Amino acid sequence: MRAALAGILVAALAVEAGAQTRGIQSGTRPARYVIRNALVIAGNGTPTSGPFDIVIEGNTIADMVPLDPVALKAGTARRPVAPVEIDATGKYVIPGLINAHGHVQDARGGVPQPLEYELKLWLASGVTTVRDVGSNTRKTLELRTASAAGTVAAPRILVYASFAAGGDAVDSRGIRTPDEARARVRQLKALGVDGIKLVGIDRDLMQAMLDEARKVGLPVAHHAGVEETNAWDDINFGTRSIEHWYGVPDAAIRDGVQGFPADYNYDDEVDRFRYAGRLWREADPERLNKVLQAMVDSGVAWVPTMVIYEASRDLLRAQNQPWFKDYLHPTLEEYFRPNPANHGSYFIGWSSTDEAFWKENYRIWMAALREFSRRGGLIGAGEDAGFIYQMYGFGLIRELELFQEAGFHPLKALQHVALNNARILGMEEKIGRVRVGHLADLLVVNGNPLEDLKVLYPTGTEAIVNGKAVHTGGIEWTIKDGIPYHGPTLLREVKELVAAARARR
Ligand SMILES: [Zn+2]
Repeated sequence: MRAALAGILVAALAVEAGAQTRGIQSGTRPARYVIRNALVIAGNGTPTSGPFDIVIEGNTIADMVPLDPVALKAGTARRPVAPVEIDATGKYVIPGLINAHGHVQDARGGVPQPLEYELKLWLASGVTTVRDVGSNTRKTLELRTASAAGTVAAPRILVYASFAAGGDAVDSRGIRTPDEARARVRQLKALGVDGIKLVGIDRDLMQAMLDEARKVGLPVAHHAGVEETNAWDDINFGTRSIEHWYGVPDAAIRDGVQGFPADYNYDDEVDRFRYAGRLWREADPERLNKVLQAMVDSGVAWVPTMVIYEASRDLLRAQNQPWFKDYLHPTLEEYFRPNPANHGSYFIGWSSTDEAFWKENYRIWMAALREFSRRGGLIGAGEDAGFIYQMYGFGLIRELELFQEAGFHPLKALQHVALNNARILGMEEKIGRVRVGHLADLLVVNGNPLEDLKVLYPTGTEAIVNGKAVHTGGIEWTIKDGIPYHGPTLLREVKELVAAARARR
């Protein structure tokens, strides 16, 4: 009913206002402009409201003027004026998407890949902020600076430097003592990073590094492995977020170790991913609830990146995503091929049995995510693209669909990628919702994402309009820091870039 009413309202306003997009140039920030007649999904879990005229001044949302249909009709409505405007009639404005688990990549498997490819795909998919969790630290710090200055078309970047691997001229593989762990934290702080990404580490080193990180004010994102530590250590030592999911069911296994077969080898990725698919079933439900509650109580957030394991439960789906045809860079295509040399490219002899176990694994995992959320836990959204058949940007939108599959309302899925992620990043005062005074990180979407999250895919989707199948959807404008980027233009540039790279092959 509400949706139908809004539809009529929007149609009426379109005739009244006769607004048109004018004066906007992709990639250039006007001093002041108006997004006209937009329905707004704020990003904090509240329902759609509007329409509004949204005024942007510099990089800030300066005003949101609600449009009164009666006053509009009478010609007495107060409407902000600006020489530059975007007509959002029939469109939705939502917060720019925050990718809480991304990797800045300018090469795959040792082969260079233009950074522009990833950055443009992110923007075309509505990603306005990326928490980079482990890449070449110095290069990514430079990208952060360039993005903040607006000299490169890119999302804003937060650098969570890898604790245990370089790119910053620090060889940390030698960290063997708590003192060395503390020194490494201070070294990263001096480099000016925003946080630390922690992977696989023994308990004494983890305790020391988290203590030091707290002292110097660096949040820590932990990609737990199957190792000495698990979620209890994150709870006890104060991790900001658990990445992926290992460590959570591990903490709830009754006898403390998963029932691995005798010939299991953790360094064999087929073994590792195969038996990871049989892990959630071993978690004791009662213990699991205790772990989840303790995470809530100690403020450990969870960024599950469900999307990056999807090939494990449905390999054919993962290998045949429609956007591969025009947008999969040959470097990435090559990297995705099953090859033991590349991390995550483990699909050799992947069986129906493996997929069946993984489907069950997801069911238990998704139920745990909902339980965590119901208890007050903070869930974030990340994509981890560049691995396992996931493309930049597309992966994050797929993650939202997986939240819906897990049972979350699409409003909650959008909250995960907006306000919740902003909280995890410690930036909720500036980004993560459509609100006056916040930074202008906004998307103008062709369609209602609450009706169909697929409208967020930059390639759009098919829908029935007036009994006819039409191609619709996509993000018309990605506005980052007040700079509007035209989604379809970015996507066309990516397509040309990929075509050229393929022709050279
Ligand atoms: Zn990752």
